[in-house]
Amino acid sequence: MSTIKNYWQNYIGGRWVDSVSGRRLPVENPATGRPFAEIACAEGPDVDLAVEAARRAVAGRALYDMKPDKRCQLLNRMASEVRALGPEIIPVLTADNGKNLEFSADEVEGTARYFEYYAGMADKMHGRSIPLGDGYVDYTQLAPYGVSAQVVPWNFPLELAARSLAPALAGANAVVIKSPELSPLAVCFLAIAAEKAGLPEGYLNIICGLGNVAGEALTGHLGIDHIVFTGSVATGRRILHKAAERVVPCVMEMGGKSAGIVFPDADLDATARSAAIGILAHGGQVCSAGSRLIVHRSVHDQIVDKIVAVAKGFTMGPGDANHFLTPLISANQLEKVEGYCRSGIQAGAKPVIGGKRADRPGYFMSPTVFTGVTQDMTIHREEIFGPVLSVLPFDEPDEALSIANGTEYGLAAGVYTRDLKRAHWMADRLEAGTVFVNQWFAGGNEVPFGGFKRSGFGREKGVEALGNYVQVRNIAIRL
Ligand code: NAD
Repeated sequence: MSTIKNYWQNYIGGRWVDSVSGRRLPVENPATGRPFAEIACAEGPDVDLAVEAARRAVAGRALYDMKPDKRCQLLNRMASEVRALGPEIIPVLTADNGKNLEFSADEVEGTARYFEYYAGMADKMHGRSIPLGDGYVDYTQLAPYGVSAQVVPWNFPLELAARSLAPALAGANAVVIKSPELSPLAVCFLAIAAEKAGLPEGYLNIICGLGNVAGEALTGHLGIDHIVFTGSVATGRRILHKAAERVVPCVMEMGGKSAGIVFPDADLDATARSAAIGILAHGGQVCSAGSRLIVHRSVHDQIVDKIVAVAKGFTMGPGDANHFLTPLISANQLEKVEGYCRSGIQAGAKPVIGGKRADRPGYFMSPTVFTGVTQDMTIHREEIFGPVLSVLPFDEPDEALSIANGTEYGLAAGVYTRDLKRAHWMADRLEAGTVFVNQWFAGGNEVPFGGFKRSGFGREKGVEALGNYVQVRNIAIRL
């Protein structure tokens, strides 16, 4: 901890700057509940400066006019610089986010991979020629939107910022990132990597500030052309209202209440482990966490016992000591998660394990497994964003599908079975943008990710994401 800088600035137009007002936000370590650093607190005037810097970059066309091979090399250098900064980033991310060092290292690698992955595409984005008959030439171009405003949540701040930044740069957009006020520090390293890699000035601007001040000012700014929002449905809805006023295109990546379905022929030990990791990794603060498990009645009790055994095998403690059960992000989040557990208990659900905060300093929540959950309960319908699993029994596959599809969300879903035909039949009917079969969180930077229903629209990751960062211009020529 002693090596971590105690004051961090915003990054605007290629310079590290204080906020115009001079205000700062405290940054806490969730494992202790104590502040250990400060970051410049951006407000309206800082947002104006960041958007102006991005507009100047777009007008200068440095990235748009760059030869494709050079843009690839630039993004590849971003990947290398992020990897080289890894030893500095990892302890900082663990300190302000709570996740363990191993997960922070995974996040650094995932971040580097986004730049590498989209570097490999920056020279393969092109239009097509469309025959229009004698006397005409017609072709399409992929044009950048211009200034992309990107609002990032705190659970994977670095990786999610890179997930949108990398394809945006591949498409020659300039970006203003609003980093999350609860875990802002690791995102600053993207600017360090960009400087070292030689990204032209103004193409990356990073401001940290409160959602209802800096986030509002950025997403409502007249100088932006594009919004990428990753966060809760409530905030997303607010942003969409404002975007509608100005017809600004949006990519919306929001919450989930994802369900895994367990058939009796599944490998029950592997399933229990996968389901436990699916809800307990990073304290369940994962948009695609498997927060519901719908288990065939014949193996329901066995699966519950096995999950409880897996959970008891994980140790709890600070991320810098590499424990698996790490803290929630804040006192508010802990209160919210505990409140959901209280509501579940009041409604008649039974906590087989956990159900309340852990008795230790910091924001630790006990791993929690509820049985006796019914579909009308709040804990079954709403995203808790904590280590809280609801287990429900089923008898027939159609019933399992109806329970799994029975919420407003549609981010991820899962099926555990050895029967490939059944897995495919279920996957084809699950209302989710991602379906995991036999391993929760299977996938990588290469696969598209995003929501059905209220979980959002547009896709991030994979080849699919690129289409969100460029617009098609058709040029029809009468010769
Ligand atoms: P949040 O909506 O509270 O905040 C997300 C970001 O929006 C933060 O940077 C915040 O400052 C900003 N914000 C808040 N109010 C704003 C406003 N009025 N205008 C503009 N910006 C505003 O969400 P959170 O608590 O930080 O993150 C957790 C949520 O994010 C969960 O619902 C989770 O499922 C979701 N999430 C989704 C994905 C995905 O890819 N689908 C990934 C990670 C997290």
